[in-house]
Amino acid sequence: MKFLEVHSTISRDEDTCIDWLMSNGLICSAMNCKKCETGCNVVLKKGVKVWRCPNRGCQSVCSLRMNSFFSGSHLKLHEIINIIYWWSAKSTVTSTMKETGHSEHTIVDWYNFIRDVCAQYLIDHAQKIGGVGKTVEIDESKLERENTTGEEYRKVTGCLVE
Ligand SMILES: [Zn+2]
Repeated sequence: MKFLEVHSTISRDEDTCIDWLMSNGLICSAMNCKKCETGCNVVLKKGVKVWRCPNRGCQSVCSLRMNSFFSGSHLKLHEIINIIYWWSAKSTVTSTMKETGHSEHTIVDWYNFIRDVCAQYLIDHAQKIGGVGKTVEIDESKLERENTTGEEYRKVTGCLVE
């Protein structure tokens, strides 16, 4: 998918993005109040859409992002979608900084987070690879880094199936 398609159908503005994320189950499309169980409405609060309990005695508010991949981020949802797009297109951090206007720190953080989520998915959904007539090559990455305790470690293992 080209960026222009993503932009026109998902990330051209925040409202379009919210609708797309809800209709694709990536953020909740309905929410019950955590305090009184009343069905919440989407309302604008300081220019940001949030869930708000309509119960006059409650009026509890929570983020549309609650319990989603996007919770905890301060970026707008359509900005995150754009970063995910460029990550999936194998864009370098520098190129994505230019495309999105975000800092290196922001892009590196999101790239790491997206990679970690994908890695966890693969761990949780592990499958056998290869089979009769298939060649599987396994190669430990040459990447060596120091972790916070100063220990060096090799982390990544790649494989190729032909
Ligand atoms: Zn409530």
